[in-house]
Amino acid sequence: MKTNLFFLLNFFLLVSNLFSWTWPISNSNSPNDSDTITSPFGPRLLDNQYNFHKGIDIHANENTDVHAAYSGSLVVAEYQGGNTGGIVSISDGTQKTVYMHLNSWTNLVPGSYIGEGDWIGQSGGTGAGANDPHLHFEYRDGTNHELHPLMVMPYNDNDNCQTEMLEDDNRDWKFRLKVPSDELDIDYFFLDFEYYDGYGTVFEELYVDYSFRENIPTTSGQNSINVLNGNWTMTVHTHNFHPSHTDQIVDFQFTSNSPDIYMITVEGDFYTAKDVWDGSLGFYNFPTHADDFVISNNLNLIHQNHPNPFNPSTTISYSLADNIKNPKIEIYNIKGQLVRALELPEEQGANTVNWDGRNKQDNPVSSGVYLYRLVNDGKAVQSRKMMMLK
Ligand SMILES: [Zn+2]
Repeated sequence: MKTNLFFLLNFFLLVSNLFSWTWPISNSNSPNDSDTITSPFGPRLLDNQYNFHKGIDIHANENTDVHAAYSGSLVVAEYQGGNTGGIVSISDGTQKTVYMHLNSWTNLVPGSYIGEGDWIGQSGGTGAGANDPHLHFEYRDGTNHELHPLMVMPYNDNDNCQTEMLEDDNRDWKFRLKVPSDELDIDYFFLDFEYYDGYGTVFEELYVDYSFRENIPTTSGQNSINVLNGNWTMTVHTHNFHPSHTDQIVDFQFTSNSPDIYMITVEGDFYTAKDVWDGSLGFYNFPTHADDFVISNNLNLIHQNHPNPFNPSTTISYSLADNIKNPKIEIYNIKGQLVRALELPEEQGANTVNWDGRNKQDNPVSSGVYLYRLVNDGKAVQSRKMMMLK
């Protein structure tokens, strides 16, 4: 029996405004038409060479007011000449924001307090690609490393993301995700697989460590990931990442090695900013054989933590079925950094483990989304997400 393809393009949002950030051009809490990004963070082609753009360029006609994205004390407000022009930077010790190519800037002295949204200057006409006047905006962490500003700034305008089906074959199935160049990129991507084992619905949640920005694959088709106990292989194909003024396109291709799993839906969750939004990529029926599927009941699984959101601790329940070897739950922050690993006993069956909300250094973690996954025998089995909310 071959099932029909069922495909929904609807996206829906779950937006949580947990973090206070202001867009420096529109002076608003969420981006609007004044916040068009003309050059994104990451590798870019400039004068026929790739360099790394350490911030985002936000379109702004000359002498547009610029506002502090985040509060802190003034580090510098001065003219530096050359491509940079006027520069303002503000730091609270752990977060630093930098604003470049300014025509004018605040006359406050270094050390002065700048509140979020305060006027700090006016945009100028210098900088790479200055024929399109812009504000160059950077975010740096406590060690002065540039990070993707959109990982910390609110952004939830996903209306223009598109998915389309490219191939719908028996064992070869591909869809395309398209993010317009003036929209945000996707930093983190989850795929939820749902299938029936004959007794009920089983999920596998796959965390694709995939970034359009920091981790751009140079060769198409190099990112193969085994899913659903290795019965399906997912390959990521990328297109058109360079130069920056093009749409960002990625194809996800799934190839089945065996007909014995009946997959029914795939959903993608996108993480584009600290304000997380969940976008449902679409629902797909896999055209496979429902009548002769066989599936193992021996699954290692983790379940949604409780409570969630949590503060300060939470409980994760899981079950281990077979081939149990060095099981653990790994907890990652939204940047993909390992925060903590919880060793689990090598015992078959359902169990729970408590996470005290502390990292490897035994310090309490900050508010935000965390990803946790069950790892057994060195292999990630399943991933989920949770939220610490202080
Ligand atoms: Zn720039």
